[in-house]
Amino acid sequence: MRIAIINRDRCQPKKCSKECEYFCPPVRTGDETIVFVDGKPVITENLCVGCGICVRKCPFGAITITNLPEEMEDPIHRYGQNGFALYGLPVPVNGRVTGLLGPNGIGKSTAVSILSGILRPNLGKNATWEEVLQRYAGSALGDYLRRVAEKGVKTSYKPQYVDRIPKSYSGVVGGLLDKTDERGVLQDLVDRLGISKLIAREISSLSGGELQRVAIAAAASRDADFYFFDEISPYLDIYQRINVARILQELAREKAVMVVEHDLALLDLLADNVHLIYGVPGAYGVITRPKGVRVGINQYLRGNLPEENVRFRDSAIAFEVHAPRIEKEIPPLIAYGAFSMQYPTFRLQADPGTIRRGEVVGILGPNGIGKSTYIKILAGVEKPTSGSFENQLKISYKPQYLKADLDVTVQGLLRSVTREFDSSYYQTEILRPMGLDALMDQALTELSGGELQRVAITACLSREADLYLLDEPSAHLDVEQRMLAAKVMRRFAESTEKTVLVVDHDIYLIDLLSERLMVFEGIPGSWGIAHAPLEMREGMNAFLKGIGITFRRDEDTHRPRVNKPESRLDRMQKEQGEYYYPVEEAKAR
Ligand code: ADP
Ligand code: ADP
Ligand code: SF4
Repeated sequence: MRIAIINRDRCQPKKCSKECEYFCPPVRTGDETIVFVDGKPVITENLCVGCGICVRKCPFGAITITNLPEEMEDPIHRYGQNGFALYGLPVPVNGRVTGLLGPNGIGKSTAVSILSGILRPNLGKNATWEEVLQRYAGSALGDYLRRVAEKGVKTSYKPQYVDRIPKSYSGVVGGLLDKTDERGVLQDLVDRLGISKLIAREISSLSGGELQRVAIAAAASRDADFYFFDEISPYLDIYQRINVARILQELAREKAVMVVEHDLALLDLLADNVHLIYGVPGAYGVITRPKGVRVGINQYLRGNLPEENVRFRDSAIAFEVHAPRIEKEIPPLIAYGAFSMQYPTFRLQADPGTIRRGEVVGILGPNGIGKSTYIKILAGVEKPTSGSFENQLKISYKPQYLKADLDVTVQGLLRSVTREFDSSYYQTEILRPMGLDALMDQALTELSGGELQRVAITACLSREADLYLLDEPSAHLDVEQRMLAAKVMRRFAESTEKTVLVVDHDIYLIDLLSERLMVFEGIPGSWGIAHAPLEMREGMNAFLKGIGITFRRDEDTHRPRVNKPESRLDRMQKEQGEYYYPVEEAKAR
């Protein structure tokens, strides 16, 4: 079975010569496979032979023709003929945190709109509620949808892009939260999320991490039947992520909680079950039945779903224990002495350290510990108050918070920062793996958060510099995009012998990306120490000891999994001082 999708935002029939219709072989022999109705192309799927000529000929890349992986019944919903099609739905379950794991653009929001009664499913035609209920009769999903159709379900929703909250709410934080306090738990949430000092602040003055916690408090304090959190991790440090995970697990004792999350260590800790979603982003998505969280994440990493008989990625995402490179082989980029920075209420002390050429250094530490301050000193934007920092390095920097305020296209921006744009290296090693081909002619202002993130990472790596600093590149990227971005950054460092420093709180990303780690310790908002870069094992131990968390290795995929606090393994690993590489692996190194 084949489906044809036309992206209506990209399709611009006034600006093309109707190449899709002109070149379509069945049209040439008299079939009405592609016709123009009211000036817009319509593709009839059962007349299409799947040659893909229209896909290649469309000047705007607006057409996708793809085979569905198996015989499937009608979709639960389709956005009209040649629109995105969704197959299957997740089921919210009281007493459980249900995770949704899949790429961006695969139908997660569509599914949640149906579950919250905002979107009436159409079964790919003009189905009535009766027909929908008939199709799912006798299943848990059918019972749930009957409630949606008959009484409605009250949904509480934490939106994906918290940066946009100040556009729709003004005033102080307390004013916003008072309206959501329907369960009488707000004060407790405010305390636990560490946002009590923000109550009198203007919403417009909050940082991303502060907005994220306020939005989570607002959604969790409502009284609803179904709670949906669309990404909880962006802008939160590991400590805050784990804290939110505990809060949502408590909420789920009485309620149905559903979460989209791309930080897999966090999803693993947080969710009871996951529905995996595969397909072709922008074209169709298939939601699997629920799987246990461990098995589900393992299948996702392998790219292989045995029950569904689907392979959606050629290679598995693997966690390897890299042997450290021998130090003397690698020339240093800079060796710096101790320095410190004293602000009125914060002090950063940096130990002396060396950063090498061609390496990727992961930077770990809580928010408010001085990471940005350190980066600004390396970049020469700030001068330390003691210790000298002779800095001749040219730095390219991707900030944590991105703004699309330039009136240019993606291509226009990238061409303005590099002369390599047309080179085959740039096209194959950077643009393609970053998935930017299809976005080239889009204006920066039209991009989604994840698209803007990929453009910002690419622009940062495209500038001519000695040292590349990327602050939270994972925010809003899905798992595939994170892994591809990690590969691009690593290969970039290796092939250009440039140094890349990455601040991120996604442990899996940091593990896949980094050769060494720099750990920041201290009391957030008061003082911080920037330790010198360490080998992975030492660095992970130093960092995790500070937050009191240990990881074991999954038997099948060797991915790290957070140990339950005070479990046998947790206690044993803490005694041995092996927080990240349990002892067998530590011995093998
Ligand atoms: P996700 O939440 O997984 O990122 P969405 O459910 O938002 O995915 O979107 C899946 C696809 O459906 C996207 O390709 C999007 O363009 C399309 N889509 C979403 N809403 C509409 C709509 N109202 N009309 C047509 N297409 C839509
Ligand atoms: P991180 O990047 O780890 O989140 P930052 O370096 O941004 O941490 O901030 C560390 C601390 O320094 C915070 O408490 C912040 O308020 C304070 N700080 C940062 N920049 C300045 C400045 N220019 N003046 C005064 N205090 C600052
Ligand atoms: Fe026509 Fe081939 Fe496009 Fe199908 S894939 S609509 S047959 S050009």
